[in-house]
Amino acid sequence: MIDVEDLVALVHNYNPRSNAELIRAAYAYGLRVHGGQFRHSGEPYFTHPVAVAAILTEQRLDDATIVTALLHDTIEDTKATYSEVATLFGEEVAELVDGVTKLTNLQLSSSHSKQAENFRKLFMAMSKDLRVILVKLADRLHNMRTIKSMRAEKQAQKARETMEIFAPLAGRMGMQWMREELEDLAFRVLNPDARNSIIRRFITLQREAGDVVYKITADIRTELDRANIDADVFGRAKKPYSVWRKMQEKDLSFSRLSDIYGFRIITKTEADCYRVLGVIHQRWRAVPGRFKDYISQPKNNGYRSIHTTVSGRDGKRVEVQIRTRQMHEVAEAGVAAHWSYREGVRANNPFAVDPAKWIAKLNENMDDEDHDAFMENVKLEMFTDQVFCFTPKGDVIQLPRGATPLDFAYAIHTRVGNSTVSTKVDGIRVPLWTRLKNGQSVEIISAEGQRPQASWIEIVTTGRAKSAIRRSLREEDRGRFVKLGRELTRAAFENIGRKVNDKALSTAARMLGLVDEIDLLARVGSAELAARRVIETLYPDLSRDDSHEVDSRRPVVGLGDDQTFRRANCCQPVPGERIVGITYRGLGVVVHAIDCPVLAELEDQPERWVDLNWHSGRHAPVNTVRLDLTISNDAGVLGRICTLIGEQKANISDLQFMDRKPDFYRLQMDVDLRDLEHFHMIMTALEAETDVAEVSRNRDMRRKP
Ligand code: MN
Repeated sequence: MIDVEDLVALVHNYNPRSNAELIRAAYAYGLRVHGGQFRHSGEPYFTHPVAVAAILTEQRLDDATIVTALLHDTIEDTKATYSEVATLFGEEVAELVDGVTKLTNLQLSSSHSKQAENFRKLFMAMSKDLRVILVKLADRLHNMRTIKSMRAEKQAQKARETMEIFAPLAGRMGMQWMREELEDLAFRVLNPDARNSIIRRFITLQREAGDVVYKITADIRTELDRANIDADVFGRAKKPYSVWRKMQEKDLSFSRLSDIYGFRIITKTEADCYRVLGVIHQRWRAVPGRFKDYISQPKNNGYRSIHTTVSGRDGKRVEVQIRTRQMHEVAEAGVAAHWSYREGVRANNPFAVDPAKWIAKLNENMDDEDHDAFMENVKLEMFTDQVFCFTPKGDVIQLPRGATPLDFAYAIHTRVGNSTVSTKVDGIRVPLWTRLKNGQSVEIISAEGQRPQASWIEIVTTGRAKSAIRRSLREEDRGRFVKLGRELTRAAFENIGRKVNDKALSTAARMLGLVDEIDLLARVGSAELAARRVIETLYPDLSRDDSHEVDSRRPVVGLGDDQTFRRANCCQPVPGERIVGITYRGLGVVVHAIDCPVLAELEDQPERWVDLNWHSGRHAPVNTVRLDLTISNDAGVLGRICTLIGEQKANISDLQFMDRKPDFYRLQMDVDLRDLEHFHMIMTALEAETDVAEVSRNRDMRRKP
């Protein structure tokens, strides 16, 4: 295990102003709380956090990150708490450790590889501070380096996660070496045969052609010396995994695969980069289409370099990258370069990107040529307004920010959404309107027979949930209408001394050109069709009998023979109430109640006023009055009310649900009745009904007269 003083020295090398006491304290604390714990390999557990810290010293990271590495498993695996870590090492470290703990707790168990992208976005979204991801990546790197001591099954699972989530994440952060090493370690577990064959092939090549890397490096060196350019040349065979991936992508056999060697030329100045390029292209032929200048057009993660491929010795393709030392640091460390130290001070590398700005600016400076990078950026940009939550099985569900457990339920399946009763988030019961946060695990508790509530529309944010709830409410309305229609037709049949039956209803439906008796009932219930019409259709004689008592004169006395009239919508006067007529050009006469407030506006136009009276005989039940009702939400209540109105020989011509609470409905009901006396009978009957909490006549003066 790396000794505490060795670690302090490693940090001191690049950061002489580092707080050695803080690192010593964290080391001692970690050693103590992890005491008695062991890794699979049998080593003391604390060797792991120390190794993670050492990896981060290679990236020359700040004290907070190093201390976080030493403590990264304490909150999760020991009796240490957030507040204790905060007290001992400060809020910054406590928050970083907490962030790492949260990432560790993510259930990555999902076997769907399409979820990998979600996980990567989730990682980014959950990490307010990208140093959390740097520690997590170093943690994964050390675990992968020491994976041999794990069970085979566990090895495969960790390797897949590494390949699908952590290596691409390192790539996205611009940490090229980290990406390559993670890939290679995972490749070793996932496909050892392929990896071994590639390594054997390298060995054979070397035996046949000699040390190609050494020879090409020497060739380049010679050319640079001749041109008098001060630069370093590095060459290497590419990692087995990247060779293998190229073989897969291009479907090439190993022998035909070119550019398995990569060379880097690190210069002192930017101008030298272009001089080197000239030297290389003069000496070897450039391969068309492989030249890219990321110095004049850097990538968004700060990457700068010139890329070219030339035909080298024996026509073998050789890939060359040319950049300055500072550019190289950014290319290797990626966003980590922002925190790096060099010679005791924050490196202040002009090419390093500020991680916060990096995320904010991802979508700017799009380069048409760099399509892949563009796609990456678009994907990255998307997650800022999204949250990622988990099913109990560990599947990721991606939702817009502000989404609630109901949105989550509908995202799983409409059936799940519709039957939601309550929900647990991270194991705790919460209200359905709770806003979900990244990484929460959501359990939906559902029950057979549960139906969506109208109030849910206000709770959900996704279109999918909204439309599913509306659809279900519509269907439920239809069910309600059918029920109501059944009551209305039953009452109508009883009025003529008959019993309703399915045969009569399906006959009426056929005669009226409707689909079936359910369609008929729904139409009666929704007031599209009057129950009276059903009776008239089946028993034309009976319905005529019913009308003989009615005075067949015009209901209103005082109009000219050619004057049409209608009742004003605002006050809906009924026979028995004092009325007055107002003439409208083209509309005839509109009849208002004498106390209707609308009349006040017409006082200065006396020429339009007409004195009118209702005739004194019996009126037909055709005068619509709107009622506001509040009734209890119990089975059968609505039906009883309809029966009650039917018993009073009045007709419901329209019905609208205004508000649906768990215990009460508010609804508006239009009732066609004879006169004021009839109206009072109906009101009395309704008021006497125990399930009617409130009933009143609705005279809405906002309605057009
Ligand atoms: Mn760890």
